[in-house]
Amino acid sequence: MSNTATDNTAPDHTIASNPLLDFSDTPRYRSIQPSHVTPAIEALLSECRATVERVLDGSSAVSWESVVGPLDDAHERLSRAWGAVSHLHGVDDNPAIREAYNDNLPAITQYWTELGQNLALFERYKALAASSGFAALDPAQRTIINNELRDFKLGGAELPADKKQRYAAIQEELSALSAKFSENLLDATNAFSLNVTDAADVAGIPADDLQSAAEAATKEGQQGWRFSLHAPSYLPVMQYAENRSLRERMYRASSTRASEFGPAELDNTPLIQRLLQLRRELAQLLDMDSYADLSLVAKMADKPSQVIDFLEDLAGKAMPFGRADMAELTAFAKTELGLDTLQSWDVAWASEKLRQHRYAFSDQEVKQYFPEPVVLGGMFQVVERIYGIRVEPADAEVWHPQVRYFRIADADNATIGHFYIDLYARQTKRGGAWMDEARSRRKLAAASGRPSTIQTPVAYLVCNFPAPVGEYSEGPRKGQPRPALFTHDDVITLFHEFGHGLHHLLSQVDHLGVSGIRGVEWDAVELPSQFMENFCWEWEVLSHMTAHVDSGEPLPRTLFERMLAARNFQSGMQMLRQIEFSLFDMRLHHDFDPAGQQSVQQLLDQIRQQVAVMIPPDWNRFPNSFGHIFSGGYSAGYYSYKWAEVLSADAYSAFEEARLRGLAEGTGRSVLDPDTGARFRREVLSVGGSRPALQSFQAFRGRAPNADALLRHSGMTVESAEDGAATVAA
Ligand code: ZN
Repeated sequence: MSNTATDNTAPDHTIASNPLLDFSDTPRYRSIQPSHVTPAIEALLSECRATVERVLDGSSAVSWESVVGPLDDAHERLSRAWGAVSHLHGVDDNPAIREAYNDNLPAITQYWTELGQNLALFERYKALAASSGFAALDPAQRTIINNELRDFKLGGAELPADKKQRYAAIQEELSALSAKFSENLLDATNAFSLNVTDAADVAGIPADDLQSAAEAATKEGQQGWRFSLHAPSYLPVMQYAENRSLRERMYRASSTRASEFGPAELDNTPLIQRLLQLRRELAQLLDMDSYADLSLVAKMADKPSQVIDFLEDLAGKAMPFGRADMAELTAFAKTELGLDTLQSWDVAWASEKLRQHRYAFSDQEVKQYFPEPVVLGGMFQVVERIYGIRVEPADAEVWHPQVRYFRIADADNATIGHFYIDLYARQTKRGGAWMDEARSRRKLAAASGRPSTIQTPVAYLVCNFPAPVGEYSEGPRKGQPRPALFTHDDVITLFHEFGHGLHHLLSQVDHLGVSGIRGVEWDAVELPSQFMENFCWEWEVLSHMTAHVDSGEPLPRTLFERMLAARNFQSGMQMLRQIEFSLFDMRLHHDFDPAGQQSVQQLLDQIRQQVAVMIPPDWNRFPNSFGHIFSGGYSAGYYSYKWAEVLSADAYSAFEEARLRGLAEGTGRSVLDPDTGARFRREVLSVGGSRPALQSFQAFRGRAPNADALLRHSGMTVESAEDGAATVAA
């Protein structure tokens, strides 16, 4: 084993000059420069190619150690270096890193395509699967080999030479198109700003948000307030601004980003067309009915029709609730707000008014109870209770002063892993929130002079919350900076990403291919993240996770009760919107013909007729900013959010049952139940992709998943569990 394993701590003469080639610890963000990218990637790619040649030279018998081990080592180095580069491209964008990223992307894509099509390597894996040693491998190793065989087939390894070439060309073009799509979107987002100088025009917008807008204006040498299309600036305008034409201008700018209504060079329309054509061609090359069929091979769902049925079934259940939500909003807007016609740019604003009218609280009021340090501390306490772990600050090089680093330790203080947390929106950061892996858990083979060791995992947690603004103006903290304040939605997002992070960090798998979130079916990967969101609705959690920014008082119980009552406010409308996006994505990649009569926009219009309760204006170009499916890996997979929500709600109901049992038995147990937590950690989080997600779910829950818990949590109760449950188990 020792002759094939790369010793990750061995000195490397190039490290001194190129920090991207230093794998001894976490990435050296203080030293990495765009000029390091090309030499590092070139060196690593040639190392990978040399490794492939060695694996194929046939001088050693096929075994895990002679095939998978050396490839894992080489590929891990490539992935870690490229991971650091893509991470910077996502969180610290500038022309130099963008250029370095784009210059190297084709070579990276080409390498993976080449590898996926390497027939000799495919044969080597087939021989490994047929070898006498295969049965003696552990289940994770066998899963990895079976996944590889599947991916070789999907990667075109069995195609004749001319088709292989075409396949490679398609892959390369697809990854360039995806990168361009997301750059266009970011550039189009940055290209717009709106300066307002009359205080009457910003009426309704909360003070915190106005202060950010005033700072943004000052920075540009402007008077008044400056608003942008980045979420922390955009959303408060849509939700609170009394000025209808301000909302309309912002909405129009946002929903026509990267479309034919803006500069031609930033228009994503031709890119979408091309992406769809190429994906369709790719599926045809592999003899698949559609790109959706291809996408589902490695997912939990079996075929597109099963997904479409699942979505339409859920839409049927949500429709009466969605219609009622819309009718109520329309009536309220008419009688209370004097709006005869409710426009798209009124929906968030009118909804906020209705919510305040019905539940008598605002996001602004709630926000004062969620200062960042209290929220982080409270979130860590939740996982400390249910998993028996500990979270504490640690040191590492970071890419921005706002970034922090933490260590997770087990009950015996052994290090489980580390994570970075980068909370705030910046001009240079891609929108949204995500978790990514910086390093994955694996067992490192023994090398000369040292026994085998465990490489602990490291995660990135990235959000786009509004940064802290201003100082305390009175009290004992006068003059000190005020912490950032989170809305309850922000808190939920944070828990969500932390859930992904824990899936990555609590892995107990020794082999890279299925460690953490690797190898987990895409439509099950949101289970651990959505699961975590549920804790944001528990009084026993929130009462310890809140402290008013000025008074330090915890969230009042009465306010919590109102939040809870409002939890399912417009849940019908929201569910239908997710179903609309999911159906659009699925149909686009299944039965839509990009060369046919119908346009992408027309397909969306048709789906809206079927499931939407609010039809946006005809100039809305939502597809042009639908990065999830055109640049984010969710193509023919957006339904995964709803699919996994069925799983996560059902998993969480095991914790609710533990509490009910505790109450019935007088043991006074809480929802933060360590026994159920230990079982969830053992059966779901720690096993990663080493076995099918359905099997893990059943091991935890003792039965197949069903949608009852999701419908109950969403306030949509099913009349008959037998014929009403939208079962996702295949
Ligand atoms: Zn997620």
